[in-house]
Amino acid sequence: MKAESLAQGLVCIDCGAAHALGYRLECERCRGLLELRYDIPRLAKTGPAILAGRGLWRYAPVLPIADPAHRVTLGEGETPLLECPHLAKELGVRRLLAKFEGPNPTGTVKDRSSATAVGAALQFGYAATSVVSSGNAGSSIAAYSARAGLRSLIFAYERASAPKLLHMAATTADLIIYKGVYDDLIPLWDGLVEERLFFDCGASRNAYKQEGKKTLAYELAEQTAFAPPDVVVAPVAVGETFIATARGFREMREAGWIAKAPLLVAAQAARANAVVRAFRDGGAIVPLKIGYTVAEGLAAGNPGKKGAWVLRLLREQRSLAGDAEDDEILAAQRRLARTEGIWAGPTGVATLAVLIRLLAEKRLDPAQTICVVLSETGLKTEAEPPSRSGTAFDADALRRLVRERLGTT
Ligand SMILES: *Cc1c(COP(=O)(O)O)cnc(C)c1O
Ligand SMILES: [Zn+2]
Repeated sequence: MKAESLAQGLVCIDCGAAHALGYRLECERCRGLLELRYDIPRLAKTGPAILAGRGLWRYAPVLPIADPAHRVTLGEGETPLLECPHLAKELGVRRLLAKFEGPNPTGTVKDRSSATAVGAALQFGYAATSVVSSGNAGSSIAAYSARAGLRSLIFAYERASAPKLLHMAATTADLIIYKGVYDDLIPLWDGLVEERLFFDCGASRNAYKQEGKKTLAYELAEQTAFAPPDVVVAPVAVGETFIATARGFREMREAGWIAKAPLLVAAQAARANAVVRAFRDGGAIVPLKIGYTVAEGLAAGNPGKKGAWVLRLLREQRSLAGDAEDDEILAAQRRLARTEGIWAGPTGVATLAVLIRLLAEKRLDPAQTICVVLSETGLKTEAEPPSRSGTAFDADALRRLVRERLGTT
């Protein structure tokens, strides 16, 4: 686990200017977003044998945290890639896989980016972190900050589900509830980032934070013996997951680890579908005024520069983007739980709802291996429980009920 980081520098995605490694949020020349670059020839030479250890930090060579002492962990990553044969049959898909992020320490894909975000906060000498969140990023950044001995200032959405709020209140002493949606607070908060009072654990600009989510691609490759699925459907809120996963596959292709990168399809909630609309209309992103969606983690109406980056990747790859209504998302959630036993939250299952739509609209060939990223557990969702009125049994009544239910009367 003492693997060296092969990060070499930062490159502007707009003008291509190279910058030295450091805490820098945008290009000095054109204010474009920056992305990390690694020693690809070295990866080509060693092959996957360079990977050692388990969990997220197995991928330390392709992550930007140099000092092993800064590699904070709660046991994230190494999530299961599950075959979904029952659902595949129902949907008429040749092979359906689910990359289920629920088993992560705080129940979502956010733990991957929190590990590298908080690792970077340590690397650059910060004592406090902060994030604006609809709930998942908040509880994840709070947990990882606590783990690293850092203070965290967590700004949480007033409509975040009760389990998410409980989780945040447990893991940080500084939980602040904000009025409105993510888009209402983020411009003000992003402005404050410039003052460097805290380490930026937001999704808008920080290249180090986003990097952790790249491990999704590396795991998918390893779990399929470097023959990744033909199609991967990934969620898009601000776009970190999508961008990072795309680059993970690109790095592996450039290093010759995989022959071909999967087609990466973007999934959004219909109530927060700025990227999907722009993709459909062929224009630029027009920020949306959004309200509530059950896919709380996807509730960003203005994905900013990262949204534009997602759009660029979609167009370059000639890929697809789709959305799904809240009722379709909830139906997909129940269907997945009943057919495969996987209990993912609405945010996590939006990808499946979008896949179902794309198949129905014949926009996706079902004779392929398709993987959906299920980005969160269902256990952090607020929902009406079934009736709690209990039955008192005696031995006969209990036997009768069991026989009736199992049809053996
Ligand atoms: C934040 C989040 C996402 C996607 O967000 P990006 O900013 O696009 O990476 C997806 N699923 C869950 C559960 C999330 O919490
Ligand atoms: Zn630039």
